[in-house]
Amino acid sequence: MKSLSCDVLVVGAGPAGSSAALSSAKENLDVIIVDKKELPSKIACAETISEGFFQYLPFKIPSKLLGNRLKGIKFYYKEFYIKRDKGIWWKSFTINRREFDPFVLKLAIDEGATFLASTEFVNLRCSSNYIVDKVLLRDNEGNKIFVYPKILIAADGVQSSVLDAIGISKTKAYSIGYIKSHEVHDLDLPNTDDKYGHVYFGEFADGAYGYIFPKSRNVANIGVASLTDKELDKRYKKFLRIISRKIGRGTNKIDRSGVAPITGFSDDIAYGNTLLVGDAANQNFKPFVEGILPGVICGSIAGQVAVQCLNDVKNIRRFYKKSIREKIGKFFRESDALNDILIHVYDKKYKSRFLIELAAFSYTLGYRELRKLLKLDENNIEKFLKEKLT
Ligand SMILES: Cc1cc2nc3c(=O)[nH]c(=O)nc-3n(C[C@H](O)[C@H](O)[C@H](O)COP(=O)(O)OP(=O)(O)OC[C@H]3O[C@@H](n4cnc5c(N)ncnc54)[C@H](O)[C@@H]3O)c2cc1C
Repeated sequence: MKSLSCDVLVVGAGPAGSSAALSSAKENLDVIIVDKKELPSKIACAETISEGFFQYLPFKIPSKLLGNRLKGIKFYYKEFYIKRDKGIWWKSFTINRREFDPFVLKLAIDEGATFLASTEFVNLRCSSNYIVDKVLLRDNEGNKIFVYPKILIAADGVQSSVLDAIGISKTKAYSIGYIKSHEVHDLDLPNTDDKYGHVYFGEFADGAYGYIFPKSRNVANIGVASLTDKELDKRYKKFLRIISRKIGRGTNKIDRSGVAPITGFSDDIAYGNTLLVGDAANQNFKPFVEGILPGVICGSIAGQVAVQCLNDVKNIRRFYKKSIREKIGKFFRESDALNDILIHVYDKKYKSRFLIELAAFSYTLGYRELRKLLKLDENNIEKFLKEKLT
């Protein structure tokens, strides 16, 4: 049994946790970051990052880590087709998470953070006002490690065990989206289609979407997202059949399936001396559930808040919420408003829900216009959208 003390303990070395460790370590705090896995490991992701977020990042991404540049996104539903490629927010790069995640972690280690690989968070002790004073970890040989942190940062992903241990459960309906996804090889994307992301709507992805994010003409991350896990394999196969006419059959090479938080941005991102970051705090942008760079940005903010509040945690929740709101809160509010509408449309099984999804994802209609539209009767909604989207 080992005992360690530190200023900040970060659980989870994904993009959000490593970024939090980096910003605390930069200010000379004594930081320990742990991950239950040996990095890099299997990562559920379509590996696409919007250029719009680059301006908010705490570091520059080296160009060698940036893969295929996508000029925009093409959206499809039956005969309806919309292309979006004007402005920075539609442009993106593919990345390789097996390179990107270790890159961010290495930045943190280079600033002095201590990384414990294959070390799992097991439990914690906290007072009634959520002040955590002792954390139990276990390494891959089963050895117990006790850590006594001043601040705990939970960056352990969508199904956070730190959050569970504190006693908070995410029970809201539709709090998680399910995604069946693979990196598919041996494709034959038509020329120039490898320079766009492709998003499809229909029964196969009820409440969500199917996607192709090409890494090259022959390799792409392909997936089907859904608000339920019912028959996801079947629906993924159906989607592959639909797109095979255009891009060939391909071979599923790497499984990238997983879950993503789809509950809106919440104020419940800090408890006592614990800060939640990344997917553990629902810090992704809906409806695409883009969470890599938002996790890095919010992680960096959490690390700075830890520095500010190290010896006085009573204001930690207020500081953290305020800092996030000031930096990227506007985007969270908009993405949540859009997401609420999409969940409502799915839940109420609107007849024209796929057209509504097409209009929402492509930002043909903003959330205010969509709210107004939904006040019309079903026939008028459909008529309006068919005219608007043609
Ligand atoms: C199929 C799919 C496709 C996606 N595509 C995209 C995309 O194209 N672009 C995008 O921006 N986002 C995408 N996302 C979302 C993105 O992957 C996440 O938002 C992002 O990984 C969140 O980063 P994070 O650091 O919060 O958590 P994670 O990346 O999940 O990292 C959490 C870390 O915590 C560790 N951990 C968990 N439990 C413990 C424990 N008990 N003890 C110690 N360590 C623990 C895990 O091993 C992991 O390394 C996608 C998600 C899915 C499921």
